[in-house]
Amino acid sequence: MNIYDLTFEIETGMPTCGTDWHQNVQIVPMGTIDEVGRNTQRIVLGSHSGTHMDAPYHFIQDGTTMESLDINYMWGTAKVVDFRNKGQGDVVTIDDVRNIDVEERLIFVFGWYHNWKTDKYYKDFPCFSTEAIEYLISKGMKFMAMDTPSPDDGSAINMKEGEDSPNHKILLREKIVMVEYLNNTDVLDSSKRYEIVALPMKVKGSDGSPARVLVREV
Ligand SMILES: [Zn+2]
Repeated sequence: MNIYDLTFEIETGMPTCGTDWHQNVQIVPMGTIDEVGRNTQRIVLGSHSGTHMDAPYHFIQDGTTMESLDINYMWGTAKVVDFRNKGQGDVVTIDDVRNIDVEERLIFVFGWYHNWKTDKYYKDFPCFSTEAIEYLISKGMKFMAMDTPSPDDGSAINMKEGEDSPNHKILLREKIVMVEYLNNTDVLDSSKRYEIVALPMKVKGSDGSPARVLVREV
């Protein structure tokens, strides 16, 4: 049984989302074997560090927080949608999604993870049109995973309220389980069937959480 890990390693100095206020990851020793007989580390994270999941509270003031998000969508069979033909600056339009036989769980593969730790990762990554997102939800999508930083246009990240991240707001209002920053998606083949498990930390009141994301062929 082949299990594939679609998760980035969390490490000190790793890139974080393209804003100047998101916490940098720090992993530092608190106790060491030499000093206290065991190694124990302090791990400092932002809620959107590396491969992670978003909860509605990320964009909705009274939205569901991570510990209350429906776990039923976090584990089960998933369909791989191959958008490796989409590159920098491209948009997934409604015409691109209309022929998808939509399932509850969809994994969108662009191959964008190859740009991790380069200047390109946060720059004009392929994104989705609002119409495409609305279509996928109308057809029953409940879980959306992608190997890009966001389903939204990254160049709009610092836009004013009302224009910022419209796809996030639509998805989170519908309580769609979102997974961003998948790694290693070259292992996925859209002609095969997979089971996916994506589990966020159960942090009370959290708007998001790093997650370990695994798939296996079924
Ligand atoms: Zn996020």
